[in-house]
Amino acid sequence: MGAASPPETRIRRIRSRVLDLPLPAEFRPAWGRNEIQHSFHVTLIEVETVGGVVGITAAEAGREAAVSVDRFVTPHLIGQDAARPESLIGVMRDAEILGSPVYCVEIALWDIAGKIAGLPVYKMWGAATDRVAAYCATGEVRSAERRVEDCRRIVAEGFKAVKLRFHSDDPRDDIRVVEAIRLDLGDRLAILVDANQAGVLPGLGGHRQWTFPIAMDVALELERLGVTWLEEPLPRHDYAGLRRLRDRIHTLQLAGGENNHGMHEFRLLIEEGCYDVLQPDAVLSEGVYQLRKVAALAEAAGLLIAPHTWTHGIGLLANLHLAASIPNHSWFEFPHEPPGWPSTALSQMLVSKPWIDGDGYLNVPERPGFGFELDEELIEHHTVATYG
Ligand SMILES: [Mg+2]
Repeated sequence: MGAASPPETRIRRIRSRVLDLPLPAEFRPAWGRNEIQHSFHVTLIEVETVGGVVGITAAEAGREAAVSVDRFVTPHLIGQDAARPESLIGVMRDAEILGSPVYCVEIALWDIAGKIAGLPVYKMWGAATDRVAAYCATGEVRSAERRVEDCRRIVAEGFKAVKLRFHSDDPRDDIRVVEAIRLDLGDRLAILVDANQAGVLPGLGGHRQWTFPIAMDVALELERLGVTWLEEPLPRHDYAGLRRLRDRIHTLQLAGGENNHGMHEFRLLIEEGCYDVLQPDAVLSEGVYQLRKVAALAEAAGLLIAPHTWTHGIGLLANLHLAASIPNHSWFEFPHEPPGWPSTALSQMLVSKPWIDGDGYLNVPERPGFGFELDEELIEHHTVATYG
């Protein structure tokens, strides 16, 4: 341990509230075949100091995340100095050995540090920019006709890029959707593609797993169509396959990493040459500040960072601060798939819902810390369990 902690920033309490948040309409996630989603779980975590500053974060999971925090994190953080996140990151890493990943807790500690400093986190970290170009991330598999309609709306809303899901039994059906959008909108919309091949959620069977030849064929077709990136074409630990695929394409970027965990795994992805664009998530993959270190490794290797953000509004904003603090950020994921999962559903726990400006950029909140303002009334209404 270093110098004695100033008493006012010592952690006094960690409280977790499990929320079951409703979606406005049925949502059929492309990554969960036959799944119909009506709501999603979030565990809201508040870290309170003796001096009364509260750091906020949230896990993507429900009770399993709350139990993991309660058992493996809270006992080791109470009494520690919240404003020294770097000295505490080991607690979050060790928790994953026995429990649900809780890297998100580092967000709460930096939220406290920012509030004490009176600065938004991205400015504490150097502020490469104060806004990041967003892409509209869709989440369902839809017909070419419906996607063309969607993309007309997406352009009208001000987005400059869209991400589509490739999950059909025959990938040629997915490619036809890209062709239809290109025919209708030309180059007015950059097109990104996500195949979600890196891993399947437990219990969501029936997923069409691509072989290397399928991934190769799709990549060449997407290159022909001027697509920006292909995301997760192969399993997340198939380093050799990803490298082999990346070696054979030229203008198409390979993206991935949302399901990889820890600094060492990202170093491996960089050293093995798997991706052009790394997509770690400050809620899922590693601590938010630790991802700045991953970003530095990526920068030196000539790679880009585009955080995964499809968790909740708190995760979206934390990843936005991260992206704005590094020079090598790419398109920023903005989940928005009406009617089931519009961006307002993702950010329903926040008073002000993030939205793009007139140029299609997300502006980083200027409030101290990460700038989370919680809708307490909504949160209390949807709380199904409390820990700590
Ligand atoms: Mg993805």
